[in-house]
Amino acid sequence: MTEKWRCAHGFGLSEPCRECELDSARETVARWGERVDSARKVIAEAAGQSVMLKVAGKPFRCQCGCNVLHRLSGDRDLYACNACELQYEGQG
Ligand SMILES: [Zn+2]
Ligand SMILES: [Zn+2]
Repeated sequence: MTEKWRCAHGFGLSEPCRECELDSARETVARWGERVDSARKVIAEAAGQSVMLKVAGKPFRCQCGCNVLHRLSGDRDLYACNACELQYEGQG
C-alpha cells in the first residue's frame, strides 16, 4: 500500500511547503535565538576586545545601528561589528 505523506498544509513530500519552512525557522529562532545572541556576547567578552570606537570625536556606529565592535585578532587594525559582523579597518 502506498500512502502519500502530506504535511498539515496539504503538501506532499516532493512539494516543499513554505508554511512548514517558516514554522521551523520560527521555532529555531524562538528556541535558539536568545542563546545565539548571548553566546556571541560571551565570545566577544572572552576575547576582551569589545570596544566602542570614536571617529572624529563622535561615537562610531555600524550601519546596522550597533555601536559595539570587537577587535579581530591579527596584525591589522581590524574591527567587526558585534551585531552584524561587518568589518571595519581602523585608522592609524
Ligand atoms: Zn506544510
Ligand atoms: Zn553592524
